[in-house]
Amino acid sequence: PFDVLVVGGGPGGASAAIYAARKGIRTGIVAERFGGQVMDTLGIENFISVKYTEGPKLVASLEEHVKEYGIDVMKLQRAKRLEKKNLIEVELENGAVLKSKTVILSTGARWRNVGVPGEAEFKNKGVAYCPHCDGPLFTGKHVAVIGGGNSGIEAAIDLAGIVKHVTVLEFMPELKADDVLQKRLYSLPNVTVHKNVQTKEITGTDKVNGITYVERDSGAEHHVELEGVFVQIGLVPNTDWLADTVERTRFGEIVVDRHGATNVPGVFAAGDCTNSPYKQIIISMGSGANAALGAFDYLIRN
Ligand code: FAD
Repeated sequence: PFDVLVVGGGPGGASAAIYAARKGIRTGIVAERFGGQVMDTLGIENFISVKYTEGPKLVASLEEHVKEYGIDVMKLQRAKRLEKKNLIEVELENGAVLKSKTVILSTGARWRNVGVPGEAEFKNKGVAYCPHCDGPLFTGKHVAVIGGGNSGIEAAIDLAGIVKHVTVLEFMPELKADDVLQKRLYSLPNVTVHKNVQTKEITGTDKVNGITYVERDSGAEHHVELEGVFVQIGLVPNTDWLADTVERTRFGEIVVDRHGATNVPGVFAAGDCTNSPYKQIIISMGSGANAALGAFDYLIRN
């Protein structure tokens, strides 16, 4: 069996595996798609100490670093079940069952898509999901934020400090964000809020040039010219396969303590799949390292 089996091969999982392997213990990684969300990222400017890099390039370095150690990397494999017996068992879609003394879950998350024409086409060409990452790319420009929940309104407030104008589109008749955020939003001079509207299309040629939305009660259609669209309608953790085996929040995020431990002894978690409040590459790497040290601590005590 493994000493540490990492499920997920994004920055969180890669970091956890390297930290574990450096303790000289038997370490494996199972990953459906090595690199995770980073594979879908174009420019990265906030991976501290590297001024600029690109997703696939960072993933290549992650992989090279993982290969420096005797880590058993099982790519293109999806975990479908976890069970704590004497050892912890992880069953893969292909039927294989991997056994390990500890498991680190780092299956990440995915941004919920609005699913309108133009969204997929203009991803990284004006359509963005992460204001902390891509906000500065739109300095002085006009952008829209789709979604009036806490993340949407936080994004709108954040972006209003950087861009020229922010148009917020909310499907429901009211914003769902906390009052204090709404107050702050409405105090800003360069924000327009449209409620009870449905996004119809993100338009563009080689990159985004506007957004079309429909007023839900009148059916009236409007087009706004702008350069960027931030989709903020939720981040979904990839944790459904865990069902009730580990404790999750109502959003599906795995609940971890300061050591990265879940409620199941020997099972740890790191990165975007956990209830950590902020989801970034550098944060998931830190939490992967933290969970690996937590798992090592557990191994020497049990
Ligand atoms: P992920 O990167 O999501 O990796 C999850 C891993 O788990 C993948 O290998 C996946 O295949 C695997 N997996 C999932 N389910 C299973 C399963 N059942 N079995 C086996 N494997 C499974 N952050 C920044 O800091 N800076 C940026 O500029 C930036 N830009 C971004 C741009 C985009 C378009 C997106 C989508 C995200 C961006 N982020 C950025 C966020 C950053 O990518 C994430 O915070 C980070 O990748 C999280 O790492 P992770 O390892 O926790 O999860």
